[in-house]
Amino acid sequence: MDFQQTKTLYDNHILPTYARQEVCFVRGEGSYLYDAEGRKYLDFSSGLGAVSIGHAHPQWVKAVAEQAGTLAHTSNLYYTEPGGLLAQRLCELSGLDKVFFSNSGAEANEGLIKAARKYSEDKYGKGRHTIVTLNRSFHGRTHTTLAATGQEVFHQHFQPLTPGFVHTDANDIGALKALGDGICAVLLEPVQGEGGVYPLDEDYVKAVAGLCSERDWLLLFDEVQTGVGRCGRWFGYQLFGVLPDGMSFAKGIAGGFPLGGFILGEKLCGTLTAGMHGSTYGGNPLACAAALAVLDVLSGVAGDVERKGQLLRDGLSGFEVRGRGLMVAVAAGGDPKACIPKLLERGLVALTAGSDAVRLLPPLTVSGAELEEGLRILREVLS
Ligand SMILES: *Cc1c(COP(=O)(O)O)cnc(C)c1O
Repeated sequence: MDFQQTKTLYDNHILPTYARQEVCFVRGEGSYLYDAEGRKYLDFSSGLGAVSIGHAHPQWVKAVAEQAGTLAHTSNLYYTEPGGLLAQRLCELSGLDKVFFSNSGAEANEGLIKAARKYSEDKYGKGRHTIVTLNRSFHGRTHTTLAATGQEVFHQHFQPLTPGFVHTDANDIGALKALGDGICAVLLEPVQGEGGVYPLDEDYVKAVAGLCSERDWLLLFDEVQTGVGRCGRWFGYQLFGVLPDGMSFAKGIAGGFPLGGFILGEKLCGTLTAGMHGSTYGGNPLACAAALAVLDVLSGVAGDVERKGQLLRDGLSGFEVRGRGLMVAVAAGGDPKACIPKLLERGLVALTAGSDAVRLLPPLTVSGAELEEGLRILREVLS
């Protein structure tokens, strides 16, 4: 099929909830994508950060193919090896205690929020259930994670949302201190992603952690975009030298296979018991085998992410640049949406962030030469 034929199928049969770019990708290899006409593109979007080890990585392909030919799914009513092995790895990497697997980031946050509310009800009774999130945050598209998302624009049209969320400004510890009773948890993105790639200040995160332990508020991180090596650490909170009570992950974990989940620390890991939470697909052997391959590949790459991120930021000196590791935003000097087709035309796939920036999430396996190639196109379009 050519591009127009595919586009017609979408126009006729798919809900118009996305403003798609005028391209149909048919194949990927490493940091590159290929369209229906055979054109090659450098992919600095990684499928919104999910394709963390690049497209069709041989180790990933082998692991997924072997697992698909062995056992793909059983449901969570039984034990399977990949789930156990992946959970063990994630506990080691995170310093936390117990994992729950879901399929997406929003679902992961839903579970984290349930665990927080249950903890507070067990200990303090009903009513102490409010969760603080930040203005400009993004936590997902379900009703509860929309309520958690501190951006009014996402709240329109879908009222009533789940009650029990308040939002304060990032890096404003005074605003957090001033909040009254009824709080059970604070949920933070270490770097605000969709909101514009704004990293939190280390002093702020440390102060939040202090306030949380003082008031027995749970410290939770949404690591859906920042986690699994993206920011130059296995998880973003490790940039700040704090250990949360729980955190969610998704995007980069399984290299493009749908998988998410949350990990709870000592304080929370006894709160959810049999029958309280579940997911039919969550952590099935196929998804977990994909994730194990991703972690194997990343163990040889993760140490390089900070250096590569620096290379990317240095190459954009002269522009306003934000971010940590290979999660970078560069001010577009106008509506960033207009830049995306121009970059695409020159063979670079990029994203927007917030209302002012082009967002770059290259595969963590990207090479120095590929970063230079992307930088050339970026500088051409942005200046
Ligand atoms: C993408 C994202 C989500 C939502 O993840 P889905 O898999 O789309 O549900 C939640 N939180 C953050 C920080 C994200 O970047």
